[in-house]
Amino acid sequence: MGFNVVLTTDRTMISDHRGKEFLGFGTTGPPILFPEKFWLWLFAPKVKVDSLGRPSVAPYGFRKIEAELIRNGFNAGIVDPDHLSKHKDSAKVVLLSHHDYFGFGPPSSTFASLFKTETVNARSFKRLMSSPIMEYWRKNDVKFIAGGPAVWHFKIRQRERKLWKISTLVFGEGEGVVCPLVRRALEGDSLPTEVYTGPLTADEVEDLPPGHEIINDPRDLENIEADVVWVKHVPSLNEIPEILFPSVNGLVEIMRGCPRGCKFCSVTLRPLRFYPLDKIEKEILVNVRAGIKNGVIHSEDVLLYGANGIIPNPERVLKVNALFKKHYRKIAWAHASIAAIVKGERDSKLMSKVSEIILDDHQEFWGAEIGIETGSPRLAEKIMPAKAAPFDVKKWPELVVEAAGIMEDVGLVPAMTIIAGLPGETEDDVLYTLDLVDELWDFNGLIMPMFFVPMGMLEKERWFEAYQMSEVHMELLKRCLTKGIRFAKKIIPMYMKDKWWHPLIVPFLLWFVEKIEIVSRKHNYLSYPGEHRKRKLRV
Ligand code: SF4
Repeated sequence: MGFNVVLTTDRTMISDHRGKEFLGFGTTGPPILFPEKFWLWLFAPKVKVDSLGRPSVAPYGFRKIEAELIRNGFNAGIVDPDHLSKHKDSAKVVLLSHHDYFGFGPPSSTFASLFKTETVNARSFKRLMSSPIMEYWRKNDVKFIAGGPAVWHFKIRQRERKLWKISTLVFGEGEGVVCPLVRRALEGDSLPTEVYTGPLTADEVEDLPPGHEIINDPRDLENIEADVVWVKHVPSLNEIPEILFPSVNGLVEIMRGCPRGCKFCSVTLRPLRFYPLDKIEKEILVNVRAGIKNGVIHSEDVLLYGANGIIPNPERVLKVNALFKKHYRKIAWAHASIAAIVKGERDSKLMSKVSEIILDDHQEFWGAEIGIETGSPRLAEKIMPAKAAPFDVKKWPELVVEAAGIMEDVGLVPAMTIIAGLPGETEDDVLYTLDLVDELWDFNGLIMPMFFVPMGMLEKERWFEAYQMSEVHMELLKRCLTKGIRFAKKIIPMYMKDKWWHPLIVPFLLWFVEKIEIVSRKHNYLSYPGEHRKRKLRV
């Protein structure tokens, strides 16, 4: 029997990215040098499915929504995009989720703007929504509800939203609202067009359209008439279900929220909640029992697990890392912050102690995404005043360099992000960032420049696009590209070492990097430390 409620998304999301989470970023690139099919094969290969078309792994957040529906008695499940026809006549509601529906996320929009073409993930999602099964469901009045971190893309792409008959967009944490909404859809009632969840700022109240409703209890969603509904409720720890089936690359969340309040970030307003260790362990075991050997600790800042505000709690951080390491052979962190790395190491050698837990015969290093965003203390103070806390944000570049040294010493390999085109940015700010990139030149790690995308408290600001780039922006991108090529050659053999097929893929990936280097050199895209000073970009 097929599902009444089908949860699905495109191939770039339903893949284990060859067991290497970082390879997933390949789908945010444009399909250049090789055909798109090859990009998909390389960065988002298909996964195994069962007789119902349920994939062996699926994105963690989507697994939470699936678990919430199943524990409330719905006939629901995540279905692989190639196996949707197994539920052709049973489906009444289709739930969609994505990290990057239209490729507007910071890495994709940067590539799309530079190469003037749609990225692999955006093309893949469009193909899914134009497929015959989706067309069939639309003709048969199946209801479509979209959510996930990239749902805001549909506000910009109203044409596609209409074409694909997306009834409702759900913004924020979905666990509390998904059941009342789906129940309503199954009963054939009309749905609100937009549902928001979580706390509301004064600005947000002002922006709500006339006739909106603000409610506290998500169950009231079942009867409400308004088109736009804000549900102030935030799911408590008990209300957040444990995943029932494996997540992509063993990823398990340990907490929600972030206290730093950076203006460009959408996580900012979510309250902090730390999952207890037994809840975390249950989810790790779901993955381990399915044969997943390595995992990712998900948090906006792993070092703030159990923290008192922004001061790390060493005991809880060590315990949670030890728990993951007890069950997984290798682990990575989703994110950590510069300030917590420095604070933890200065106060209690926390990073050194964590590395003693993580590094062993199975793993020589671990990865994490680390936000630098800018090298300018002036701009940092303006857009992310608490990012350096408890340290002075005026010392931001020095803190970044200190953290890079700590990461190098303990074996944490960062993928660092910087943002070009932040509102209020001046050429001098970009030059400070160039200076910081130069200081980080010899440290391990990638530096990924991304164009500013209006989100969080800055959602009304203007997008930054390639045509707006100044000479210094261009120099910054070239410098990061050159550092990236240099570091990729070093890390690829180490990163792939644990795969039996590494002798096949490593030479190919190195060849791929070399090809990028040759093309970059030909177009004069390579740049080395200090060139902005030599060329008098800095006076
Ligand atoms: S530290 Fe990271 S997650 Fe937290 S508000 Fe800033 S950008 Fe967002």
